[in-house]
Amino acid sequence: CGIFAYLSYFVEKDRRYVTDTLLNGLSRLEYRGYDSAGIAIDGDSETETVIVKQVGKVSALRAKVDSSELSWDKAYTVQTSISHTRWATHGQPSPINAHPHRSDNGNEFTIVHNGIITNYKELRTLLTNKGYSFESETDTEIVAKLIKYVFDSQRGQHISFTDLAKAVIKELEGAFAFLFKSVHFPGEIVAARRGSPLLIGIKAVDNLTADFVDVEEIANAVAASSINEDKNPAYAKRAQSRSFSRADGSNQPLEYFLASDPSAIIEHTRRVLYLEDDDMAHISNKGDLHIYRLRRDDGLSSIRSIKTL
Ligand code: GLU
Repeated sequence: CGIFAYLSYFVEKDRRYVTDTLLNGLSRLEYRGYDSAGIAIDGDSETETVIVKQVGKVSALRAKVDSSELSWDKAYTVQTSISHTRWATHGQPSPINAHPHRSDNGNEFTIVHNGIITNYKELRTLLTNKGYSFESETDTEIVAKLIKYVFDSQRGQHISFTDLAKAVIKELEGAFAFLFKSVHFPGEIVAARRGSPLLIGIKAVDNLTADFVDVEEIANAVAASSINEDKNPAYAKRAQSRSFSRADGSNQPLEYFLASDPSAIIEHTRRVLYLEDDDMAHISNKGDLHIYRLRRDDGLSSIRSIKTL
């Protein structure tokens, strides 16, 4: 039902700040209704993701986070964290069915999802035949397993996080807004939407020179075209993408707030970018933002730009 993420780049934040920011963001989404909630944050090392989820109110999740044995003085220079309030469509409200969902016991890939994957049964059967087992009854969990399956089958080929997510989304039918996080891509987040809202709030921490330069990068989109995809230049031409880079190119402190609803962002920043259907956004481990089109035969329906709320 609701999605919220907090990403910070080159700005010292401790774990308490990160979890408070997530829980406050989720509280702003409470008015939309939900039955359970959860968060995924970076662990003590880059190769670790910690998930905490709970049935009931955000306050119940907060209590569970507070009583967990996390080292609260853990400080991050770069961190990405995601969170969710769930309105169950597949599988009853339960701690296991709450989001974030994970690819495996090691939390290699964690995802949050709004919407419904209508072909999840076929994908579940396919993955079961490949030896995967499922811990939840949700449609969402198949996506977490599928991304690990694609990653493992491409291992050694240095696939990018966006190409990985594109390969997965190509298999999905239904409506979605997704955030993908992975221990294999620390500091990166991939976001995608089709039929469910998602927007990105951008905050230049010290308000100095972190103005975003907006460059349309058609050439990049072609170079980054996803695996197994038609390389027909007629398609490539229309596969527009857009990237926003910090004007001075330095590691300037920067924060992102991704959400399904502007009400969770407005207290942090008024500079936002609304994703359109079939957009995929990638934020790199340096905090740069790039937007790709998922359907390469489908050009931009309007020009995405950073707006003021
Ligand atoms: N279909 C997913 C589930 O039941 C997501 C529901 C939602 O949008 O909260 O877990």
